[in-house]
Amino acid sequence: MSFAAARLAAVNPSASAWVSQAAREARARGQNIIDLGLGEPDFDTPDHIKAAAHQAALAGETKYPPTQGTHAMRQAVVGKLARENGLSYTPEEVIVSNGAKQVLFNALMATLEPGDEVLLCAPYFGQYKDIVLLLGGRPVPIPCPAEAGFRLTPAQLAGAITAKTRWLLFNQPGNPSGAVYSEDEITALGAVLRAHPRVLILSDEIYEHILFDGRVFRSFAALCPDLRDRTLTVNGVSKAYAMTGWRIGYGAGPEALIAAMTKVQSQISSGACSIAQAAAAAALTGPQECVRAFCAAFARRRDLVVARIADIPGLTLDPPGGAFYALIGCAALIGTRSPEGETLASDADVTAYLLRAAGVAAVPGSAYDLSPFFRISTAASDAVLETALDRIARAVADLKGFRP
Ligand code: PLP
Repeated sequence: MSFAAARLAAVNPSASAWVSQAAREARARGQNIIDLGLGEPDFDTPDHIKAAAHQAALAGETKYPPTQGTHAMRQAVVGKLARENGLSYTPEEVIVSNGAKQVLFNALMATLEPGDEVLLCAPYFGQYKDIVLLLGGRPVPIPCPAEAGFRLTPAQLAGAITAKTRWLLFNQPGNPSGAVYSEDEITALGAVLRAHPRVLILSDEIYEHILFDGRVFRSFAALCPDLRDRTLTVNGVSKAYAMTGWRIGYGAGPEALIAAMTKVQSQISSGACSIAQAAAAAALTGPQECVRAFCAAFARRRDLVVARIADIPGLTLDPPGGAFYALIGCAALIGTRSPEGETLASDADVTAYLLRAAGVAAVPGSAYDLSPFFRISTAASDAVLETALDRIARAVADLKGFRP
C-alpha cells in the first residue's frame, strides 16, 4: 500500500542525503569510504556559542518562543544586516526559522499559486526545485554552464521571464558551483527584474562568509535598493558558524511577506528552538574570528583540490570563488569503461563508480540539473582530501577507452 499523496510523486529526497546513505551502506559492507557528499563544515561550533545556549537553558528560556523568532535573535539579525550588509530592517521585517531551508519553504508556501514559475540558476541547491514541485509550482531551470562561470546573464534572465514567473531564486556564493557575482553583474540582473514587478527575488546568502581571493560580499538588496520591497534575503548560521545541527536560519524582507511566512510557520513548527536561537544570536553578535578562521581553512583546501584536480587528466575545475564545494567537470569520462567493463554513461554512473572503485562519495551534477559534473565537499581535513584525491586519480586512471 502506498501512503504517499500524489503531490509527493515528483519530489526527490535530497541528493546529498541519498549519497551519504549509499556511503553508509558501503561502509556497513566493510568498504573504507570517504564521504565528501554532505554540505556541512567539519568544524565544531565555537565554545562561546555553546556557552550562550547553556546560559539560555539555565536562565529558563525553555518556553514556546514567539513564532516569528525571539526578539533578541531578530534584533541580532537586524544588527548583523546593518553592520555587514548595509541593509536596514526592523525586527518586524525578520523571521527566524528551523534553518534557511524552512525560510525557503515558508516563502514559497506563502506565495506560490499552482502553475507559478520559479527561475532556478542551474546548477542550483537541489531543494529549490523540490519545494517548488511540492507546492504545485513550475521550476524553470536556466542552464549556467562552466564556461560562463556558472553565472546567470541578464540576457538569459530576460529570456526566461514570462507572465507566470513569480520568483527568481538567486544564490551566491553558489552551492554547488562556488560561483560569485561581481557588483556589476548583480546590478545588471536587477535592471532586468525592474521591468517585471510581479517577480520576487530570493537572495540566498548562506555562504556569504566563505569567499576567497579577497572578494567582498555584497547583498542583492544592497546593490538593488529599489527592489528591496520584493526581495527576501535568506541567511543562517549553519555554514558560517559550523552550526548545521542547531537548525537556525532567517529571512529579511517586506513586512507583509514576513507576516505571510510567519502564518505558514505557525502551522508547521511554531517558533524555532529558543535555546538554539539564543546560540545563534550569540554567533551573530559575538566575536567573529571563528568565521575568518573557517574561511581561511576552506580557502586552503580549495587551493589543494584545484591543484590536485589539475593533475588528473579528464577532470576539470576552475577555482570556485566561494562556498566549500568543488564542482568537477567529468565530460571526458563519459563513454569510458570501468575495469569490470561497465560503460559510464552519465555523471551518476561516474559517482557510482567512484564510490565503488575509489571509496569516495560524491554527488552527481544531475542532482543540481547540470551535467556532466560531480560535487565534492571541501569541508574535510587536508589529509582526508589528499587521500580522497589520490583514490579518485587512481580510479580515473583505471578507466578504459578514455581519451584526455
Ligand atoms: N541554501 C543553500 C544554498 C544551501 O546549500 C543550504 C544547505 O546546504 C541551505 C540553504 C540550507 O541551510 P540550513 O537549512 O542548514 O540553514
